[in-house]
Amino acid sequence: MTPPPPSRPIELPEGRLLIDGEWRPATSGATFTTTNPATEAVSGTLAKASVEDVDLAAKAARRAFDEGPWPRMAPSERARILWRAAALIRENADALALCEALDMGKPVSEGKAVDVSFTADLFEYYAGWATKVTGETLPGLPGFFVHTLREPVGVVATITPWNFPLLLLSWKLAPALAVGCTCVVKPASLTPHSALKLAALLQEAGVPPGALNVITGPGGSIGDAIVRHTAIDKIAFTGEVSTGQRILREAAATMKRVTMELGGKSPNIVFADADLDAAAKGAIAGIFYNKGEVCAAGSRILVEESVRAQFVELLAARAGKMRHGDPTDPATRLGPQASRSQVDKILEYVKRGKAEGATLVCGGAHVPIGGKGYFVQPTVFDGVTGAMTIAKEEIFGPVAAVIPFTGEEEAVRIANATEFGLAAGIWTRDIGKAHRVARAVRAGTVWINTYNVYDPAAPFGGYKQSGFGRELGSAAIESYTELKSVIQSLR
Ligand code: NAP
Repeated sequence: MTPPPPSRPIELPEGRLLIDGEWRPATSGATFTTTNPATEAVSGTLAKASVEDVDLAAKAARRAFDEGPWPRMAPSERARILWRAAALIRENADALALCEALDMGKPVSEGKAVDVSFTADLFEYYAGWATKVTGETLPGLPGFFVHTLREPVGVVATITPWNFPLLLLSWKLAPALAVGCTCVVKPASLTPHSALKLAALLQEAGVPPGALNVITGPGGSIGDAIVRHTAIDKIAFTGEVSTGQRILREAAATMKRVTMELGGKSPNIVFADADLDAAAKGAIAGIFYNKGEVCAAGSRILVEESVRAQFVELLAARAGKMRHGDPTDPATRLGPQASRSQVDKILEYVKRGKAEGATLVCGGAHVPIGGKGYFVQPTVFDGVTGAMTIAKEEIFGPVAAVIPFTGEEEAVRIANATEFGLAAGIWTRDIGKAHRVARAVRAGTVWINTYNVYDPAAPFGGYKQSGFGRELGSAAIESYTELKSVIQSLR
């Protein structure tokens, strides 16, 4: 086997926005800094965009869409550029993974193996789609030729969170660019570096000026300007429910297309007939992967009462062995939470869990290393009931709530007793039961005897308050295109 090419650093000017192909400071000259969550030291200085910069970026993307080469070039040429981008992403795996480690504490080993690798896969997957976006010829009325065209939706603004900064941006960017949309990218303020580095790679791969613009700065002030801007056609959002609701209200004025990927409180259901060791391993990965900062985290572990005590022991044994470390060290498997406010939020939930009568089995503390860092112990609560806050609200941290149930019907009832509906896991050896429960659970993704597995071809998104619209697969192609009917007289 040929070894992969060595990773090389990306040269990038600090404190710049990418607008119309140029790296420039914010018009006001303002900047802001990011913090390394493992050391609490400043990790970077970024340009702080204002409403004026939003306007420049939106107009640049509009011009690039209305007059520029990107939507007009042969789809095969767009595909080649995206394919080249995927190769550059792989070559720059170390640098991209380092961005995530320094911005939000994701271990570099995980960043490279999962986030960067899946990002490259996505660009390859959607490069393949660029040449396969077609309309239909319809039977139509006698005397008429009726067909449809699938066209790019226009200018897309992506607004993304801090938990998978590179990956969740790529879920949007790769299909949007593949179909010929132009984009304005607004990464989370905690984690802007990987978006800037990805943009530099896409530029290097051949994405022309204006087709991709990146603005960094506080969502609270520039978010509304993005959502209200008349040059933007679609908002692709991932984040909190409350932010999504605000965006929906603002987007209504200009009737923008909107896709919403929001929060979750996903059930991971363990039946007594499951392979309990595999289920415990899966449940641990389901809640502690990425320090629990995963929208689809299996944060409610529903365990059949007859095996609950045994299963909780297995969970505690595994959780107790997990060790924190410096996310830039390739040996580290568990990093710090992304921010101080996340630590405070998690500790508050731990307090509420205890006060409301759940049993703290392990973890529950902030454990700085050498007095620094936002490290929180993997935490397991047992004896949780549906009425408790930790069973209802998204904690977005390493806190598992074990909820007992008896029988299939009760498992489904508890699983669905949530305002969310993003994902669910089912662990059983009974294939009929697995599929019955998969159909009964109201969630956008259901995993059977596995958890947190994503496929570029498998649509991902939420039921209920977890949002609407689907990312990945052919569903994303549909969400970045408009369908036009053309009816021609044959007379
Ligand atoms: P957030 O606070 O909603 O922020 C998400 C993005 O929205 C950030 O870029 C933020 O900018 C921006 N923003 C803030 N206020 C805005 C406004 N008024 N208008 C427009 N944009 C605005 O969410 P988060 O705390 O970063 O992320 C955690 C949440 O994301 C969790 O609820 C999690 O479940 C959800 N999530 C969902 C999925 C999914 O696929 N369903 C995946 C991952 C995460 P600033 O950073 O500058 O504030």
